Amino acid sequence: MGKLDGKVAIITGGARGMGEATSRRFVAEGAKVAIADVLVEQGEALAAELGVNARFWKLDVTNEDEWTSVIAAVEAAFGGIDVLVNNAGILMFKSILETTKADYERVLGVNLVGEFLGVRSVAPGMIARGRGSIINLSSVDGMKGANSLVAYASSKWGVRGLTKVAAMELGHKGIRVNSVHPGGVDTIMSNHNGRARSELDPTYANVPLQRIAGPEEVAAASLFLASDDASYVNGAEIVVDGGMTTGTYYLGFPGAPGV
Ligand code: NAD
Repeated sequence: MGKLDGKVAIITGGARGMGEATSRRFVAEGAKVAIADVLVEQGEALAAELGVNARFWKLDVTNEDEWTSVIAAVEAAFGGIDVLVNNAGILMFKSILETTKADYERVLGVNLVGEFLGVRSVAPGMIARGRGSIINLSSVDGMKGANSLVAYASSKWGVRGLTKVAAMELGHKGIRVNSVHPGGVDTIMSNHNGRARSELDPTYANVPLQRIAGPEEVAAASLFLASDDASYVNGAEIVVDGGMTTGTYYLGFPGAPGV
């Protein structure tokens, strides 16, 4: 028996990276999965590989009309949507002075407005059915500051606010809304050169677990939130960061790495 037997999930940015790992895990756990992404070729190939319980739909999360038509198509193909994983995102490294208004709006458009549109689009169906789970991908950069990430961090902090409000407004209608906050994860976003994970680990020497995460480790957190195991979890922030945000080591003192 799978943890998502009988559930229908839509996963944005589902064609690669963490979205791909989540699509794979959800299908393995018995869900019917709508892979929704702008990457048509990759999304269709993944859906074909995963079989009859996965299908690809082209969706640009910034486009409200596309949300409407994709949701109607998913419902017609698979039935009512039980789970939305708002995972699609983009990253941009620029200082505040380098970041133009257009840059800032582009990142917020995908990472924050896109997730808002997702919540707004699936909510009516979930309300009508009296149940649902929405998982919003934020980041550790939604919990702290980071140089060169003004647009990204702003968007990911915004996702926390969106999640809290949605958890309140939708919770009493049977819909749980939670956020997931990964640290470094081995996907194209954090590893665009495709280096081996072991090569990236030294960058994470000051993270208590001292390594980068695999996308499947974040998918496992989303699986928990999507499943009935999380039936009383609402408005929570699940940090999947190997301890990155727990604190800063006093290097050389007892308890620090290497001492
Ligand atoms: P990724 O770049 O591998 O995947 C992102 C996916 O989102 C891609 O498939 C891309 O096509 C899709 N996407 C981008 N813009 C879109 C749009 N407008 N509409 C639909 N799909 C769109 O990155 P990832 O690491 O898998 O990132 C997944 C999520 O996790 C993102 O929200 C990201 O911000 C977050 N995150 C990533 C890391 C990390 O280290 N990789 C850390 C913290 C949070």
